[in-house]
Amino acid sequence: MALGLLACNAPAIEGEPPRPLRPDSLENNGWDRDSDLLHVDVSLSIDLEENSIQGQVSNQVRALIQPVEELKFHSLGLEIESVRDATGRELEWRLDEPVLTAVLAESLQPGEEQTLTIRYGGRPEAGLYFVDSSKDAEGEAPQAWTQGQPEDNRRWIPTWDFPNDRATYSGHFRVEAGYEALSNGRLTGVEEHQNGERTFHWELERTIPTYLIALAVGRWEHYADQWNGMSVDYWVGPGTGEVKARQAFGETPEMLAYFSELLGVEYPYSKYGQVAVAEFVAGGMENASLTIQNDYIIGTEREHLENDGETRLLVAHELAHQWFGDLVTCFGWSHLWLNEAWASYLELMFQQHKAGVEDFTLWLEKYRASYLSRGERTRRPLSEDWRTQVSPARCTHEYVKGPWVLYMLEQELGSEAFWAATREYLLRHSDGLVHTHDLARTIFDVTGRNVEGFLEQWVQAGGHPEYEVRLGREGDELTVLVKQTQRTSELVPLFDVTVVVEVIDDGGPRQIPLRIADASEEFRISLIGELRDLVFDAPCRVLCTIDLEKDPVMWARQAGEGSAAQRWRALGELDRARRSGSGVAEEALLRVANDDEEVLLRRRAIARLRQRRDVGALLEILEGEEDPMARLEILQLLARQRLGPLVVANLEAAFAGVESERVSNALASLNERLDQSIE
Ligand SMILES: [Zn+2]
Repeated sequence: MALGLLACNAPAIEGEPPRPLRPDSLENNGWDRDSDLLHVDVSLSIDLEENSIQGQVSNQVRALIQPVEELKFHSLGLEIESVRDATGRELEWRLDEPVLTAVLAESLQPGEEQTLTIRYGGRPEAGLYFVDSSKDAEGEAPQAWTQGQPEDNRRWIPTWDFPNDRATYSGHFRVEAGYEALSNGRLTGVEEHQNGERTFHWELERTIPTYLIALAVGRWEHYADQWNGMSVDYWVGPGTGEVKARQAFGETPEMLAYFSELLGVEYPYSKYGQVAVAEFVAGGMENASLTIQNDYIIGTEREHLENDGETRLLVAHELAHQWFGDLVTCFGWSHLWLNEAWASYLELMFQQHKAGVEDFTLWLEKYRASYLSRGERTRRPLSEDWRTQVSPARCTHEYVKGPWVLYMLEQELGSEAFWAATREYLLRHSDGLVHTHDLARTIFDVTGRNVEGFLEQWVQAGGHPEYEVRLGREGDELTVLVKQTQRTSELVPLFDVTVVVEVIDDGGPRQIPLRIADASEEFRISLIGELRDLVFDAPCRVLCTIDLEKDPVMWARQAGEGSAAQRWRALGELDRARRSGSGVAEEALLRVANDDEEVLLRRRAIARLRQRRDVGALLEILEGEEDPMARLEILQLLARQRLGPLVVANLEAAFAGVESERVSNALASLNERLDQSIE
């Protein structure tokens, strides 16, 4: 497919006046640096009662091409006590947050190295977080854990805190008796102090950007697996128990094997640890060799089954980042999609490995729905640059548009070429930093395909095609009128995409590619007898919206006979048709809710049966439904109604003995709303 280039010379975000280019327009692509950070050595005492830290960091640097008089680091909210060079001389310094400048005693010549030791302390308000107790704690068990990305590690370590530099790392953390401090890399020793306190020594030999430095202090329960001679560690809060820990993390060795094989590049670090912490500020964070996970993924067996596969996806996502994000890192936040799209795509690849390709395509549809629900924000490009200026309210569709872009790219190149290029991209940029162009260049070198146009359309520009499709008939010909109705602008183009349609007539089904590049195009297709159905984007391979008017009978056929993704796409249309009184649509929707073999589809159909008159239908579906998540969904829909005592008693019986907080909440709500006037 040939892709057109876009007119993308807009000066600023739509609706805002053009802004002049300033040096800091590149803020999100990285500040200038005049030295190369080589090694960061952090040594801290962690006080869990005072929520404070005290200690030092040694930043080893090498001057680049110019002699250097001053060295700059990032520091925010910390009390700097002193800065000394390698000879122990105390240096002058000034702090203009977030920049800490140290004045060298003598200038550092190009290529020369220096190590500056900064003594500091403080009570960090972000970056390093203190929490009172863990979710499953028996008694009090405070924790302290970090979240560096994007630029919060400077709130507990004064260092170069931007992803455009990489360094090796060592950390030494002194904690009170009974507590353990986890960090990146290998544990090289534990020092016992007379008062019972202990210092944990960690060492990471590969380079990372400093936002990936991590610390997690707590009274951890520890469980482990082995993979390829390496320890795969699971740390959880006290009282969690092995069953819950393994339920959350037990698939990790299989994921390590799968990703190493798929990518053709072995897992890069000497251990892989995951620690589930309380009150985490994100879902998970892929700190190199030590992922910090939100402990919401720890639960009863039932809760685990009810969480929509989220645990598996989250665990796979953070593990995938060890290659995409950690081994190879985006050069600046504008290119963050190179980290996130891959992690999100690989989590779905693992899901495909476990649950099959139909399930995988349904997850893509879920991500498409999530992307589209962002409305106006979808108009922002995936990779933001000076034209679009990454703002604090940056769009976060790296996670949902990102995997779609990679999916489309894989379809475009073919799987073999796509994964071969992926392997070369990882090998070429291991321990390095990448721009979007590095991906395009590697794909070109490996496959001979120039995907700059593809990336310009889907990554550098914003939006997506919004197709309006109208069918007509002239003699023996079907006319297909396709319009692109997205509001175009400097950032949102007309797309040039080849969309495959499936035409089903009396001659049977056939697939026809239509290249759509203009705002409005008409295609003519010869028909044999009657048109039975037309499925636009039949392989469900294009990130787009489709407004296609066709008879509910056709949507019902698609919902019954189409591929899983086609069935998914038909459900919304059937819902609309049913609201306008179509009995065919109603029947088709109920059929999917009752009988579809894919649980994600049954659940989507169930979620659409929310009107009061559906109580009977919901109860009937519940009787035949075994999937815990679908059963929960039905119960939650019913819990929004006022039901009679008999029905509520039957529901209580149906869910008796189920260990799930959400089930208990729904049953409680049913009892609160109990309607005594109904039998
Ligand atoms: Zn991620």
